[in-house]
Amino acid sequence: MKKSFEIIGKNRKALNLCLIITNLAVLAILGFVLFQHQNSKVNRMVKTPKNEQVSKGSSSSSKEAKKEAKKEDKTQLKKGSNHSIEASDYAYDVTAVNNTIRGKSDDVKGKVVFLTFDDGIDPTLTPQVMDILKEYGVHATFFHIGYTITPENGDILKRQITEGHAIANHSLSHNFNLLYPGRVPNQSQIVSEVNQTMANFQAILGKDFKTRIFRYPGGHMSWQGLESTDHALAKEDIQWIDWNMLCGDAEPLSVRPTTSESMMAYMDGSQKYFPETTVKVVLMHDTAGKELTVQTLPQIIEYFKNQGYTFGVLE
Ligand SMILES: [Zn+2]
Repeated sequence: MKKSFEIIGKNRKALNLCLIITNLAVLAILGFVLFQHQNSKVNRMVKTPKNEQVSKGSSSSSKEAKKEAKKEDKTQLKKGSNHSIEASDYAYDVTAVNNTIRGKSDDVKGKVVFLTFDDGIDPTLTPQVMDILKEYGVHATFFHIGYTITPENGDILKRQITEGHAIANHSLSHNFNLLYPGRVPNQSQIVSEVNQTMANFQAILGKDFKTRIFRYPGGHMSWQGLESTDHALAKEDIQWIDWNMLCGDAEPLSVRPTTSESMMAYMDGSQKYFPETTVKVVLMHDTAGKELTVQTLPQIIEYFKNQGYTFGVLE
């Protein structure tokens, strides 16, 4: 009996062990199921924000796209002006600049240089000038001759707006015999050429384009008796401007620089003919035969950058 009791006792122990193991197994299974459940919950939680992130991502990328579009919009023409919206940041009133470089006011403060190119559009040189300006991240004002504003050159003109440059008027013909016959200004011819050139600009850039800036071919300083023409143009809100530095690329051949080095020296020396100011309007040309100007342009830009000038455009 003792033995059988022992057996029963042993069986109970075995039964208890069995129960414990079963309980443990049940607990383990329960635990596993719970873990799986939690895990899928976590996964869902992880996925949800991920999904949200995706949608947020697409909304933020669409926001960025909108931002980008806005940015792109800033390269569009500013209505009623001669430059893009973003060029407003460095555009200066032409009259203020003209008065400053002639020593008549100090409306423009600090060291500001205005690179100006006359006699374009040239289908070869004008884009080359723009490539260099782009490379250096600076801007210029282009004084175009009206007869070059053709559909063939339309893309160059549009590119000037998009890339942050300013556009100005340099007459339709650039013909001294028509504009100043016998060296006497022909007012009606000048005013009519300014208006026709404006119409040519608008034919390509649209009616929202308007430039207030005119440079007399040869320069205002070269002619006598322009007062009444100045006045007639001012009535139409057209302001003239010359320059107070020049690279010499349109000077008589006897004094015209033939190397980049002599061009830099010429330009530096040209300042002495004008009232002293830290506002510089530099006369250059982007037309056939002015390859040396294009070649020297990087040095010209560096010359001003090294002296701490900022680059403005005229409006
Ligand atoms: Zn000219």
